[in-house]
Amino acid sequence: MHIQLKDIVSKSILTPAKGAIDNFTHSLNPYMGCVFGCTYCYVRQLPLSLFREQEWGSWIDIKSNAAELLKKDMIKAKKKGPVTIFMSSSTDPYQPIEVKTELTRSLLEVMLEEQPDFLHIQTRSPLVKRDIDLFKKFGNKIRISMTIETDKEEVRKAFSPTALPIAARLAALKEITDTGIMTQATIASLLPCSRDFPKKLKHIAKRITIDDFWMGDGSGGKRTGKLGVEKIYQQMGLEKWYNPTAYKVVLRMIQEELQDSEVELMVSKSGFSPYQK
Ligand code: SF4
Repeated sequence: MHIQLKDIVSKSILTPAKGAIDNFTHSLNPYMGCVFGCTYCYVRQLPLSLFREQEWGSWIDIKSNAAELLKKDMIKAKKKGPVTIFMSSSTDPYQPIEVKTELTRSLLEVMLEEQPDFLHIQTRSPLVKRDIDLFKKFGNKIRISMTIETDKEEVRKAFSPTALPIAARLAALKEITDTGIMTQATIASLLPCSRDFPKKLKHIAKRITIDDFWMGDGSGGKRTGKLGVEKIYQQMGLEKWYNPTAYKVVLRMIQEELQDSEVELMVSKSGFSPYQK
């Protein structure tokens, strides 16, 4: 697919955090648009996508003045109280264009000069491991959270065909965890998975969070319903998984696997907070 790239100049970069991430004070999005184009992405229902002619997943606006703005916004925000940041809520900060732009990396450099009280990085891209050197400098003020919604590649391909393979995400997360940085494997939103999924997650992160469309989409599942993802479950013969109680089965499997383990287990919004053990 041809991706339309555009450099834009933004007016501000730190946005007050709302909805599922309102445990944070701010969200930070280096880009608008996301080439991973997940079928269930709630951003598809937001004005930034609805009012574009191009399909979600086919365009990226690069906030070229983001680093400059962030420095100013951080100084301003810190004067008002603690600053806890969720990066990113409506894009992936490590989508492939980041290899070239290093925009997210430049924001980390700014945040090392003007440190937030806490920074949560949410991505589904193994590229995140490139910035381990910077993450280490944040000490216990940072958490790297990798989205791993399933362990089945055929399911990943059906729901999120342009996102990167699960094995590469597992390996990248383990590599970051092994450096001592606080990490999280985020099953969000849960997709059909195998019985071995909990075992695959057990040794790769310090914490596991599970969420689903009904708890996590901010509308009890209605927003996801409008995106028509149920059809994909039907095409795959997996309709029993499109159910607000399905997560409980996987949660129980993870609880069993984590007995005698120090890995924390969180459900839905509790996994998206600046809380740090
Ligand atoms: S990676 Fe995140 S922001 Fe990007 S399309 Fe998927 S769900 Fe949306």
